Amino acid sequence: AVRIHGISKSFGTLKVLDDVELNLPAGSVTAIIGPSGSGKSTLLRSINHLERVDSGFISVDGKLVGYTQKGEVLYELKEKDILKRRTDIGMVFQNFNLFPHLTVLENIIEAPIQVRGVSRDEATAYAQELLARVGLSDKIDAYPRQLSGGQQQRVAIARALALRPKVLLFDEPTSALDPELVGEVLDVIKELARTGTTLVIVTHEIGFAREVADSIVFMEGGHVIEAGTPTQILNDARHPRTRAFLAKVL
Ligand code: ATP
Ligand code: MG
Repeated sequence: AVRIHGISKSFGTLKVLDDVELNLPAGSVTAIIGPSGSGKSTLLRSINHLERVDSGFISVDGKLVGYTQKGEVLYELKEKDILKRRTDIGMVFQNFNLFPHLTVLENIIEAPIQVRGVSRDEATAYAQELLARVGLSDKIDAYPRQLSGGQQQRVAIARALALRPKVLLFDEPTSALDPELVGEVLDVIKELARTGTTLVIVTHEIGFAREVADSIVFMEGGHVIEAGTPTQILNDARHPRTRAFLAKVL
């Protein structure tokens, strides 16, 4: 489970996250929607401690992200320990971010070997299993530039899963893809949802969110305006700002 408790974050004088409170049960799928600049990416990056929040805290399975607590005081972890704890939290970006000079296999086994100390054989065996799951067994020795965008994104998902994360974060995983490649990536995410992985997905694919998400969170101006089941949010939003946003995108 992920607990986001009262987090705020400013860049200079711009408050990008304002007292955000969310609880994501283990195995749940949460879709985050909202206009450009509303703080969606900053929230995801904060969950991973890629951004340091100004106040509040985030925990994954009861463990603080980025900090350790002594009495009432939080101390930021050392870089090495931040990296270690971050392996509980996988992240998939809009632009895939694969290592261009590494093959598909090497992309996937790099972190388990380097960060988790898994043996090369074990990491390779698991990579083969993951590539089968994302339908790319035949691309194991390809380089990223030899793959389509949809295939690269599926490799990126396999790479994130290789660390056996407790939660997987997706930041607009299909928005850099040609329309005909969107479906293959959404299908992989749907399959993950079925297997009970805790997922948080920033997306503009409202139809996908309706189908797959347990809850939808609408953000605007750094606030969670409204959160609820897909039916509550998409058919029966209470807040006028949510309704105004949906009127534009649906
Ligand atoms: P989009 O849908 O366009 O991806 P978003 O909801 O993901 O938008 P964020 O990327 O979280 O929005 O950005 C929220 C606000 O914070 C924006 O106004 C953005 O310009 C600002 N911002 C984000 N990162 C930084 C940074 N490193 N320095 C300064 N301002 C930033
Ligand atoms: Mg964003």
